[in-house]
Amino acid sequence: MNIPPEGIVQNINRIRENIENICRRIGRDPLEIELMGVSKFHPLEKVEEAWRGGLRLFGESRVQEAAAKFSGFREAHAGAEIHLIGSLQRNKARAALSLFDCIQSVDRESLIEELGALTAGREKPLMILLEYHTGEESKAGFADEDALCRAAEKALSYPGLRPLGLMTMAPFSTDAAMVRAAFRAASAALGKLKGRFPGAPWSCLSMGMSGDYEIALEEGSTLVRIGTAIFGERNT
Ligand SMILES: *Cc1c(COP(=O)(O)O)cnc(C)c1O
Repeated sequence: MNIPPEGIVQNINRIRENIENICRRIGRDPLEIELMGVSKFHPLEKVEEAWRGGLRLFGESRVQEAAAKFSGFREAHAGAEIHLIGSLQRNKARAALSLFDCIQSVDRESLIEELGALTAGREKPLMILLEYHTGEESKAGFADEDALCRAAEKALSYPGLRPLGLMTMAPFSTDAAMVRAAFRAASAALGKLKGRFPGAPWSCLSMGMSGDYEIALEEGSTLVRIGTAIFGERNT
């Protein structure tokens, strides 16, 4: 994807406009869609600019980078929300808890156990999403609906955890049908969880990035994670 030609604030406005247009076309309420700015590998100045552009939800993929960037940010910016969207190692779980409002990348049962133990007795439960593997090449995430159901049951057994839904990454492909199939599978899996565990909200379906958020919204996404189209290319 090319570097967006305009500034961060214009990029945010354009994406919001796109989301509204897509929602209008498919008969969804744009107010039910959350826009996350994925700020990984981008400096704090860009995050500040996005904040001034009205963005309130930020995603980071690594605990250490997020800690360096966002320590102090939240105190100075009431209403900011920061989610972890990259894989979490066990030895960083404690640090992640003090930093993130939600961990979207919960991808294995042992991590649920770890987070469940660490959040015992917490006043405010930790929001989590279960990551569903729908074809993206890194293979992160629960492999099928049965594994997801077992994970959901486990997560719901910890009072310190509040599982809210699913996160997925579609395969990096120009084949729109393949991308759509991945998002549709995640939508179906969330429907299954709603049926199996009706006591929990299951209100969040985090899917769609810079290159595929239109398809994701068509398939039911409630939270799109946009990096490049807001902040430009990453220097990785
Ligand atoms: C980097 C990343 C994104 C953002 O990707 P873009 O293509 O730059 O919008 C979204 N979700 C996850 C899990 C990521 O790691």
